[in-house]
Amino acid sequence: MPQLTKSAELLEKAKKFIPGGVNSPVRAFKSVGGTPIFMAKGQGAYMTDVDGNTYLDYVGSWGPFILGSMHPRITAALEHTLTKIGTSFGTPIEMEIEIAELLTQIVPSIEMVRMVNSGTEATMSAVRLARGYTGRDKIIKFEGCYHGHGDSFLIKAGSGALTLGAPDSPGVTKGTANDTLNAKYNNLESVELLVKENKGNVAAIIIEPVAGNTGVIPADKAFLQGLRDLCTREGIILIFDEVMCGFRVALGGAQERYGITPDLTTMGKIIGGGLPVGAFGGKREIMEHIAPLGDIYQAGTLSGNPLALTAGLETLKILRDENPYPELERKAACLEEGFRSNMEKLGLNYVQNRVGSMGCLFFTETPVTDYDTAVTSNLEKFGKYFHAMLDQGIYLAPSQFEAMFTSAVMTDEDLEKTVKANFVALQAAEK
Ligand code: PMP
Repeated sequence: MPQLTKSAELLEKAKKFIPGGVNSPVRAFKSVGGTPIFMAKGQGAYMTDVDGNTYLDYVGSWGPFILGSMHPRITAALEHTLTKIGTSFGTPIEMEIEIAELLTQIVPSIEMVRMVNSGTEATMSAVRLARGYTGRDKIIKFEGCYHGHGDSFLIKAGSGALTLGAPDSPGVTKGTANDTLNAKYNNLESVELLVKENKGNVAAIIIEPVAGNTGVIPADKAFLQGLRDLCTREGIILIFDEVMCGFRVALGGAQERYGITPDLTTMGKIIGGGLPVGAFGGKREIMEHIAPLGDIYQAGTLSGNPLALTAGLETLKILRDENPYPELERKAACLEEGFRSNMEKLGLNYVQNRVGSMGCLFFTETPVTDYDTAVTSNLEKFGKYFHAMLDQGIYLAPSQFEAMFTSAVMTDEDLEKTVKANFVALQAAEK
């Protein structure tokens, strides 16, 4: 069991100055209990905490570290930018064109793109653009999907909002809440009904095409195709929120994997390679309505800054050049099979969902296809499982409703170690 003396001390101090001691709620370990761990250093697939304990990292900074922490090519590129170029200008720079052009090549539905500083900014901006473009107010999202902490999205939201029991946040006005309609994931009829009831008023449907904030839930291909057809028919903007699954489930994201083309795409996490970057892009005809070309306003003091773009650009180039996706698939499948075999030995039959290197073990036997089935998971068992994994040096997201990310730098020994730890932790969960 790791000794967490210094983490505990730092937490007490942090609580004096920072709400809950953390700058993002799920980090507080509220749903699993125990002391949130203060990290001191990351290297590859491992993190070391302030007490000197080392962990195999399946959180990967919540998604960005598909290539692990401190990848030598990314670190070298950052050092070059820092010492030879500068951190920000607030003017156009050439690197912005380079990343924009690369994005249009990697994600063909993107004809034009704008860089922002987080996934939240990307989704907020994309929704404003869809509203401005269509002249309509309402949006449809899906129960349990998380699109950042923009007001419009904190209605039946996933991720930390779900974990902390605040899927509908106070502070969001009734007016805003009324404009957000929630449908059921993988249920086209629920969307069709909302569109019918709000005929001519729906600006956008925003969806995580692989849901990763209610645990991991793959979308049914026919469901996504149905959304595409419905949006085309009704003049609704289809937004794929690929902040988590973009560059993760395939180089071109879920839209490449499923072969379905959205009108707009939002990106984050991997696109910043561990620095704060987001982006939204899509059809030229729609993107041209953004200021200064059009009158829909969107801006950012540090948007497109060279330091953050360097990490993102280098990450995307490595992913394009080295194509780690088949290996990621193999590694994640190896974990899934190992966990399955452990459960068979123990007479357990919990659900595992996985799309590429995004996976989730739910403590339920009910197939998880949407929010309602995800919440059948036994959170007490998850908490015990989480701590038993942590005790063995495996760092999972401290919530049932988050993804487990396999990274390209994990070795077969790392995977073996994880499968062995899983065998022990599954038993601990049952006690
Ligand atoms: N969309 C999705 C699908 C996400 O997973 C997240 C973050 N987990 C966001 C949006 C928000 O991104 P950020 O935290 O960078 O604002």
